[in-house]
Amino acid sequence: MKKLLLVATRNKGKVEELASLIGDLVIEWLSLDDLEIDLSVEESGDTFQKNAIIKALAYSKETGMLTLADDSGLEVDALDGRPGVHTARYGGDSLTPRQRYELLLRELRGVPRELRSARFRCVVALARPDGIAGIASGTCEGHIAVEPQGTGGFGYDPVFYLPDQGMTMAQLSAAEKHRISHRGKAIAGIAPLLREEIQRL
Ligand code: IMP
Repeated sequence: MKKLLLVATRNKGKVEELASLIGDLVIEWLSLDDLEIDLSVEESGDTFQKNAIIKALAYSKETGMLTLADDSGLEVDALDGRPGVHTARYGGDSLTPRQRYELLLRELRGVPRELRSARFRCVVALARPDGIAGIASGTCEGHIAVEPQGTGGFGYDPVFYLPDQGMTMAQLSAAEKHRISHRGKAIAGIAPLLREEIQRL
């Protein structure tokens, strides 16, 4: 029988992305919608780690399944770490991703290059119904560009400039982004534990 892993998200693209980051696992990756789970969990934590743990535990308890949850966002040093855990809703619920990064550019107008440092951060948590099996995190350092460039990726990628690559995250290929991204690093960190837990199923 095929082993199942629940990913605590309704975003099918995220499930596919996470699955592609660990390509060789013989498991079925399922989203909340695949299982028709209506439970909505409030991300009430003030850190990425707390929110990843809240989500992984709640959905693992609800379903009895091994569950992987991630929480991620952008920390901008000139804004004292904002938008942080509020990255997805920065500027309000009605904004498009483009309007959110345009708001960020406006907030940073006039801030010089050396003060525009920022990072993406991702924490993943793996839970069994009886508790958290482990967590892993990853960061990707860069700075906020003055104007958007590139069409790849999603979210804030067009304004996240990577000095080592000499381009924004939105100008990288998907494979290059996975290699250096916060999410790629966090998933690489949790992979050994995930393999162990899947063996035990
Ligand atoms: P969540 O982990 O799905 O809650 O993501 C939070 C928000 O952070 C997303 O809605 C994006 O706006 C932003 N974000 C997270 N990872 C990335 C990334 O790799 N590129 C661009 N934006 C990201």
